[in-house]
Amino acid sequence: MLSVADALHQILQQVKPLGTEFSAANTSLLGKVLAENYSSDLDSPPFTKSMMDGFAVRADDCQQPNVTLTVIEEIPAGYFPQKVLGPQQASRIMTGAPIPTGADSIVPKEQCQDSQTSVTIAATVKRGQFVIPQGAEMKSGEIVLKKGTLLQPQHLGLLAAIGQTSVQIFRSPQVGVMPTGSELVDAPLIPEQGQIRNTNGPMLLAQVYRAGAIAIPYPILKDSPENLSRGIQQALDTNDVLILSGGVSVGKYDHLPEVLKQIGCTTHFHKIQMKPGRPLLFATRGEKIIFGLPGNPVSSFVCFELFVRPTLRVLKGETVTAHEFVSIPLAKDFETDNNRPTYGPALVTFTENGPQVTAQSWFGSADLRGLGNCNALIEVEAGRVSKKAGEFLRCLLL
Ligand code: AMP
Ligand code: MG
Repeated sequence: MLSVADALHQILQQVKPLGTEFSAANTSLLGKVLAENYSSDLDSPPFTKSMMDGFAVRADDCQQPNVTLTVIEEIPAGYFPQKVLGPQQASRIMTGAPIPTGADSIVPKEQCQDSQTSVTIAATVKRGQFVIPQGAEMKSGEIVLKKGTLLQPQHLGLLAAIGQTSVQIFRSPQVGVMPTGSELVDAPLIPEQGQIRNTNGPMLLAQVYRAGAIAIPYPILKDSPENLSRGIQQALDTNDVLILSGGVSVGKYDHLPEVLKQIGCTTHFHKIQMKPGRPLLFATRGEKIIFGLPGNPVSSFVCFELFVRPTLRVLKGETVTAHEFVSIPLAKDFETDNNRPTYGPALVTFTENGPQVTAQSWFGSADLRGLGNCNALIEVEAGRVSKKAGEFLRCLLL
């Protein structure tokens, strides 16, 4: 049976970034990925400037302590100096203001004793101190934002710095979420005999949203091949990805695998060596991607995080080559015995000595409550596992 790592590898071979679109450079860009390189239209800083409030001086004048210079001008930020600095002269200057011609160094205010017309400099001066030369951060024409950048707030600042008010980004995938199962009813209905509430629908929509994709809700589909076939074909017309939950196992009413075949989808795998979530199904039809997630809520949740989330990230232009596990030490001793590699709920906390992880108890793949206090999944190999506090476990941060 396919391992979790190989399953992701197979998925990644089928998935490539969607097309691109233009977007205004505003907060809606957060989590989107740049589809082009962007270069600066200016030097930054655009002029040689002072890093400090103090005095602009010539280092040659200040090679011994306690020299007194004549103050010839005051240069606040936003003002351009009008006077050229000659020998034995200084200009009062503020942080961010342009350095006057003739000056080469800044003496911080704290090292000066000044009156309106003169200043005495306590220490000697190193040429260039507290000066940021024009173009030190970036030169006009230099690429400062690369294609593939996952946009964060600092990048919006950078876009403003280079005067870029709209950018080309990868399109975010539109993802249909379709719960299936004749036993399901939506909250707030009170389930009748034999019915249960649909928990996977709202949960998966939120997982899609958290992954930075556009989540489209679909009504619950009853377990009939005709229903499934019609529902899936319609949803495939308008979505990039379709996530079905339930009906993917081997029961008499699990019609999904057969229906997908009938409507021309290619199933790449249908079963993974993992717990929970063994019956996961991955299929494509042309460019469209279909996940059949097992109906049990924990299975559905875990399969999304392990397989659907990386897929959505690639579609929206991120580079993903493998699962991004991090190794974190256990807070407490931990023991399990599973017949397959297991991905269970865990809580990562941050202490003065760094992060630590605590496994959370859960009662199998239907126990959604067991996910209540978790912010990570821990990977535990098959068989008897007994680990001491301080030993490391691989964690997938949520
Ligand atoms: P299935 O994968 O259809 O065999 O379903 C496995 C288990 O998950 C069954 O107990 C279903 O009732 C339950 N289940 C399926 N879909 C959902 C859902 N959307 N919300 C909550 N439980 C579900
Ligand atoms: Mg079912």
